[in-house]
Amino acid sequence: MADLALGQAKQQGRSTFCLYGGEWREERDHRIQLEHGLLRAINRNELYLVYQPKLDTATMSVVGVEALVRWQHPHLGELGPGSFVPLAEKGGLIWPLTEWVLKEACRQAAQWYRNEALDLNVAVNMSPTVFAHEELEQAIEAALHDSGLPPDRLTLEITEQSLMVYEAEAVGVLERLQRMGINVQIDDFGTGYSSLSSLKHYHFQALKIDKSFVSDVVTSSEDAAIATTIMFMSKCLDMEAIAEGVENEAQKDFLASIDCRLMQGFYFARPMLPSEMSRFISRLTPAKPGE
Ligand code: C2E
Ligand code: MG
Ligand code: MG
Ligand code: MG
Repeated sequence: MADLALGQAKQQGRSTFCLYGGEWREERDHRIQLEHGLLRAINRNELYLVYQPKLDTATMSVVGVEALVRWQHPHLGELGPGSFVPLAEKGGLIWPLTEWVLKEACRQAAQWYRNEALDLNVAVNMSPTVFAHEELEQAIEAALHDSGLPPDRLTLEITEQSLMVYEAEAVGVLERLQRMGINVQIDDFGTGYSSLSSLKHYHFQALKIDKSFVSDVVTSSEDAAIATTIMFMSKCLDMEAIAEGVENEAQKDFLASIDCRLMQGFYFARPMLPSEMSRFISRLTPAKPGE
């Protein structure tokens, strides 16, 4: 999949990559093209969601799925969020994008339940710029109402950045979301600035241990210490911890040894289309005796 950084699309076949003169203009034009395209994409269903399971590795069951947005661009092919979410954040399109993702993720989770008897909690990523948006709670209520999804089947993944940007409003918003029954997890935990103070003010359902700590957890004593500390802290605070970016068995084994049961990563499953989920889950579940 093309997860283009800004301007990378123009890089092909060029030996140099400089940020001035014609190249810069081209990059700006490329950005404008993407910005214009994004509005069209939202309205014309060029966006779609893939879902990555979060597993309880002690039982090998799926405890939820994370919705990750993709863009099937008419000319550039499939784009990952790295190439357009930051643009949407800067260009004022992140709100319509988020509304669309919320709606679609809730619709899909409700459909899984209705059509395939899959009862899955679905997580949606929130950019800092939309967290505490004045219409956030309304948009969530509408997405739940329209789909019929119960609020406790929805999770919001927010970053520590979100809590910093809207420090004053954040606690109130979080409390209201919690009262609605919605789960809130801290994404990329440990990479932001406000980690510890945010934990003091609000009870999150889970902390997601950032994949930058997981990738070298087996070989780096620092990363191992950080992962172990986050585990310990989450336990003391009565929150769950989910390790993200688990890619191999050694990482999984280390995490299990520090009592981290909840994991997400390519080792278990790559993000997949909704139609693939049922098969993935049925393969995980050991057949019951007599079946
Ligand atoms: P994130 O929320 O931390 O999501 C995890 C990212 O790590 C996903 O990349 C996922 O595909 C990738 N990943 C999962 N397991 C592994 C693994 O084992 N190894 C490695 N190397 N990577 C793994 P993706 O889909 O490209 O998303 C990147 C980021 O874009 C997300 O990070 C999230 O911050 C943002 N994003 C994705 N969808 C949305 C969305 O709908 N709205 C907003 N605002 N942001 C989104
Ligand atoms: Mg996330
Ligand atoms: Mg994450
Ligand atoms: Mg991350």
